[in-house]
Amino acid sequence: MVKYLVMEKLKTYYIHTFGCQSNKSDSERIAGDYAARGYQEASDWRECDELIVNTCAIRQRAEDRAKGFLYNVMVYFSEQGKPRPKIILTGCMTHHGSEKLYEMLPIVDEILPINEVGFNQAAVRKDLKHAWIPISTGCNSFCTFCIVPYSRGREVSRSLESILEEVESLASKGYEELTLLGMNVNSWGLERVGIGFRKLMMENKKFTRTDLPDNQSQYLTPTETPPFVKLLRAVSAFAQIKKIRFLTSNPWDFHDELIAEIASNPKIDRYVHLPVQSGSNDVLYRMNRGYTRERYLDVVNKLRQADPNITIGTDIIVGFPGETDAEFEATVKLAKEVKWKVGFVAIYSPRPGTASWRIYEDDIPHIVKKKRWELLDQIINKDQLDDRPVIV
Ligand code: SF4
Repeated sequence: MVKYLVMEKLKTYYIHTFGCQSNKSDSERIAGDYAARGYQEASDWRECDELIVNTCAIRQRAEDRAKGFLYNVMVYFSEQGKPRPKIILTGCMTHHGSEKLYEMLPIVDEILPINEVGFNQAAVRKDLKHAWIPISTGCNSFCTFCIVPYSRGREVSRSLESILEEVESLASKGYEELTLLGMNVNSWGLERVGIGFRKLMMENKKFTRTDLPDNQSQYLTPTETPPFVKLLRAVSAFAQIKKIRFLTSNPWDFHDELIAEIASNPKIDRYVHLPVQSGSNDVLYRMNRGYTRERYLDVVNKLRQADPNITIGTDIIVGFPGETDAEFEATVKLAKEVKWKVGFVAIYSPRPGTASWRIYEDDIPHIVKKKRWELLDQIINKDQLDDRPVIV
């Protein structure tokens, strides 16, 4: 009797990722979840059983890209007359809520809230030398322009044990470079003070900027070595790990001990990404960034004094509501003073649901925003490329 071996075809998935490193890291963990359930990765979205679209919502253009991609998927399968894969949407566009998303994007079959991706699912990584390691999710800072606290929820620090377990496993597989990821990595593990902002937003009452609680730090100032410094030391202790980067740190909770650790620990990369967003104290106040240009310069100067080889990059938004010529000039002046190594300059775009969308009018004409963008991009990323950083 001839025996036939019936091979069951493995189900396949494909992840299409938009946006930042946090999304890329989340996608690695979503892939880990599929692998654990016996799925295989498809090489093309046209050939998969399940298509996961990991979205970005930082600007309207980012959302439009995801919508455009889903439109192409819909057209392709309808033209081919082929059954389409199950479509799962995740990432920052989930801030719209399921009801609105299903209405906006009827092709979507399921919504995966981004805060359900979690830390502990083993990641499937393509890079075999460098690994992204999430150390926290969410954000408590509520900068008025930002959608992240709504899409990713409150800030949660991953446990030291869980992070070190992953580092150990990566080191044993030959990884030498790690990037610790979070929205505010330097706040990792700090004791929270508590925030009133969320309540204010959820109550859906009318409010103005003066009603917002101060955004300086949502945490108690540590009385001993800050937890993030301890974490950097613990990760550095793995002999196999040669280079450690972290992203993103903000001017708040950037304690002097962290500056000293960066300067004295040769495994920590000399590049520090430190978003400023604006050089005008009035704009920073409207953005609820919780620091002044003076505090920003204080951190920059301390870093450079601690090690002149440290380079600094930044994020800036131009055309924030009410940004006057003089306020924009203050950012230009700061750019000339600080001489960032790189600056990611963005044009302001109001994100529905955020505080700036609720309390300010998007009153800067696009042509003015564009001119400001061009000027700042030229100054930071083109004119100053060969300049050495200076202490100001
Ligand atoms: S710190 Fe501000 S800009 Fe960064 S994720 Fe949190 S709210 Fe957004």
